[in-house]
Amino acid sequence: MTTAESDVALRDGRTVHLRPVQADDFERIERFLGSLSDEARWFRFFSGAPDVSRMAHWIADTRRGVGLLAVTAEDGMVVGHGQYAPDDAGSAEVAFAVADGWQGRGIATLLLAQLAETAAAEGVLHFTASVLPANHRMIGTFRDSGFPVEVRVRPGELQITLPTTMTEEGRSHFEEREGSSAVAAVGHVLAPRSVAVVGASRRPGSIGAAIMANLVAGGFTGPIFPINPRAATIEGRPAFASVADVPEAPELAVIAVPADQVIAVARECAAAGVRALVVVTAGFSEVGGAGQARQDRLLAVCRAAGMRLVGPNCLGVINTDPDVALNASFAPGAPQPGRVGFASQSGAFGIAALDLARTHGTGLSAFVSTGDKADLSGNDFLRYWESDPRTDVIALYLESFGNPAKFARIARRITAVKPVIAVKSGRSGAGQRAASSHTGALIAAADTTVDALFRHSGVIRADTVAEMFDAASLLSRQPLPGGKRVAIVTNAGGPAILCADACEAEGLEVRPLDEMTRATLARALPAEASVTNPVDMIASATAADYARALEAVLDDPDVDAVIAIFVAPLATRAADVAAAVRAVGLQPRAARTPVLAVFLGPDGPANVEDGVPLFDSVEAAARALGHATRYGRHRMRPPDPLTPTPPAQTDRIAALIAEELALGEGWMSPAAAEALLRTAGLPITASRSVVKPGAVRRAAQELGGFVAVKAVGPGLLHKSDAGGVRLGLSAVAAERAAQEMRLVLVAGGMAPDGFLVQEMAPTGVELIVGVVGDPHFGPLIAVGAGGTTAELIGDVQVRLAPVGPREADAMLRELRTFPLLDGFRGTPKAAVGAVRDIVERISALAAAHPEIAELDCNPVIAGPSGAVIVDARIRIARAPSRAPVGAL
Ligand code: ADP
Ligand code: MG
Repeated sequence: MTTAESDVALRDGRTVHLRPVQADDFERIERFLGSLSDEARWFRFFSGAPDVSRMAHWIADTRRGVGLLAVTAEDGMVVGHGQYAPDDAGSAEVAFAVADGWQGRGIATLLLAQLAETAAAEGVLHFTASVLPANHRMIGTFRDSGFPVEVRVRPGELQITLPTTMTEEGRSHFEEREGSSAVAAVGHVLAPRSVAVVGASRRPGSIGAAIMANLVAGGFTGPIFPINPRAATIEGRPAFASVADVPEAPELAVIAVPADQVIAVARECAAAGVRALVVVTAGFSEVGGAGQARQDRLLAVCRAAGMRLVGPNCLGVINTDPDVALNASFAPGAPQPGRVGFASQSGAFGIAALDLARTHGTGLSAFVSTGDKADLSGNDFLRYWESDPRTDVIALYLESFGNPAKFARIARRITAVKPVIAVKSGRSGAGQRAASSHTGALIAAADTTVDALFRHSGVIRADTVAEMFDAASLLSRQPLPGGKRVAIVTNAGGPAILCADACEAEGLEVRPLDEMTRATLARALPAEASVTNPVDMIASATAADYARALEAVLDDPDVDAVIAIFVAPLATRAADVAAAVRAVGLQPRAARTPVLAVFLGPDGPANVEDGVPLFDSVEAAARALGHATRYGRHRMRPPDPLTPTPPAQTDRIAALIAEELALGEGWMSPAAAEALLRTAGLPITASRSVVKPGAVRRAAQELGGFVAVKAVGPGLLHKSDAGGVRLGLSAVAAERAAQEMRLVLVAGGMAPDGFLVQEMAPTGVELIVGVVGDPHFGPLIAVGAGGTTAELIGDVQVRLAPVGPREADAMLRELRTFPLLDGFRGTPKAAVGAVRDIVERISALAAAHPEIAELDCNPVIAGPSGAVIVDARIRIARAPSRAPVGAL
């Protein structure tokens, strides 16, 4: 096996290509080694004047180990090299060199990570490296690599040892570093010093004209260069025939020329030193075939020049920061400035969404239409907004995930600090998963993959864009609710009741207010007012009544959120009430309790703006508050550690799987599955495998007590359906049962290969815990109501593996049938902790061994004293290849 090829982004936003060393690389390598400074060569070869030609021969010799080159995309020049050579003891010596002018950009770290991935897949468990003590840069590279390194001091050198398997934590650490190149790349797009518009036009109605008009009207703070060979000026700016004619290299170029000219224009931009392109032109991967080929060529041009790309087939980008004021889009109407970063995958839809943001009063920090996502994608903008001080809330409209696992890790990190709200259209590729297990059927039926992804990462999922912006307005303007108790203040009874119902449907509580608050309200309001909750001040309520009532409920420590409803009557003006609500919202008493306003009626909402968010229905307000409350709870829970339980005995399990795979892909035998789970530290009922019914009695006697007998054979996936399970048998009865079973099965054409004799598990609640590998999402872990009726009940919770203890616990508690575990109708409570442990361990097992394509533990029987697996099936397949670490 060799490492895959990939493009990677460096810390400064440039890109280089990583690829395996090939036999004909000798000259390139020789040139590279020759170009190194004396010091760099000394560090690499421990010798001041090595024979460069001999070293190059040695490095180019692909039989000596695995070598990886970092080459520039422009001309294939070697700028870095890393290599490992395995020894017999499962370790390998690793070494690097990076060209002097290219150091400090993360090349060695990327080489190390990708070499480690290859090594781990080849069965190399550890890397060792000898480093001269003066080589501070290399020592730093190892220390900051995300791998747990051990350093031993030897005379004249340091001996560094690290494992080749990257933990989830290491991967995430690694991606944080990757984040800085994403931030640099997006910076060229959203905050360029200068912009060229290629295809700028004066023709009204053309896209080129719309972009120019928006850029100029938006008041972009840098120079704008329209590019059009047939015009002298456009929007009052002198036009240039080509990018090459512009006196300074524009940092960003927006390209709006016909599809067949885009590549040539991109080449010109590259030659001129442009740093990023926004290609609005359509006719690329979205049309397939020739379009895809054109997109590949466009990306190659960008990679070769280290230029980053938004689109093609997009609407453009907008940054409302007054220091930049960039509207490089052809969207009609500019968004209001605000604190929500919004990325939309769909361009056409983006226009409608921007319109909606305006009518919902949601101000944006920036807008990006990602289009065909040839290069920069939602993940890169997420990372940019993560550290952007102008962005408090991130809103995403998604149609597909490029790399869901990466999205999950990035989003999970961000949602600990900033809310991320997403609308995901379309259904996930449930049909792509070929699954014949119970878990597979349960997951496919529930289509819960995207939910699993969002829950895993704390992302708020909205069903519609309006709902997304409602939640965004609330979260960007108001504090997070500390709990679920809502007070409603209204001037009309009907809407308040609907609001209370909508709140309860969101899991919020509208309880009577406490006595002191009621007394305060009674003093402050007219006698006709109802002061329980909702606080109904009836139609005659004035703006001053609203102010007093809101102040009273905000002072109640048992109130976590307040919804003010105003139905325009004849007497009171909406504008006055809006002003009063806004003023209360600004008081210190509202600093920790969110206030929402719903204005109903003909003269509509005056602007409550800045502070208090406004909703046009009580349902919309309740829904937004529900999202904010759940997110608040997510933020308050201490996060699971990134690496939950490290799977036990990974090496031994890897060996077991490798042995099984040597026999072929498919379902493992029950005995092999049992051995694997036992090795992973999972509780599984003791059993004996026998071939003949005659051996059953002896096996049962060895186990002692009553036993279960199960027929084993390739066709027997659902044993009880075929009459292949008998329970609670004495040794004698067990043997007879096996004989009877054999007769029945042979008659049915399903002659068993043998029998499993198993201890009986103590009675308890039956659960299913399973795993299905998803081609896009990686392993999914599921837990649900189990046993032979699992599919019938269809009660299941799904997450991305691995899950930590907190998430495993939440999965169990969110099951409809959780009460069965929790002492339903006086039954003893089951050991929930033991089940949680099983879920956690199985998820860790699946995450560490992607060869596990499907795994079913059905049932896991949970009783008061513990939980045990009585039936396990595992299907293994060669692991799907995944993108190398750091690959773009
Ligand atoms: P299959 O799922 O192939 O039909 P199982 O091994 O799951 O076969 O057995 C079916 C049912 O029998 C289980 O759901 C469980 O209720 C019961 N059962 C099986 N093995 C045991 C055991 N060792 N102890 C107690 N109950 C068992
Ligand atoms: Mg079963």
